[in-house]
Amino acid sequence: MAKLKSLRCPTCKTIVVAGSEDFPFCSDRCRLIDLGKWASGAYVISSPVHDPELLDDLEGLRDRESSGGFGDSGDKK
Ligand SMILES: [Zn+2]
Repeated sequence: MAKLKSLRCPTCKTIVVAGSEDFPFCSDRCRLIDLGKWASGAYVISSPVHDPELLDDLEGLRDRESSGGFGDSGDKK
């Protein structure tokens, strides 16, 4: 009972069967279109950025706000 894997063409959403020549694209044309998108920056690679310094900054601002002072209560960390 081997099920054929199928994916949708990233370009035109046509169902593509694994193993086809242009998989995962339905055709050479769609593959080129997709490559073109990448090249032109239509796809923005956005990975969640965990910047410890930025988070620290934000928490520091919050602390200052809640304490009412501007650092005169001392650094407890
Ligand atoms: Zn396609």
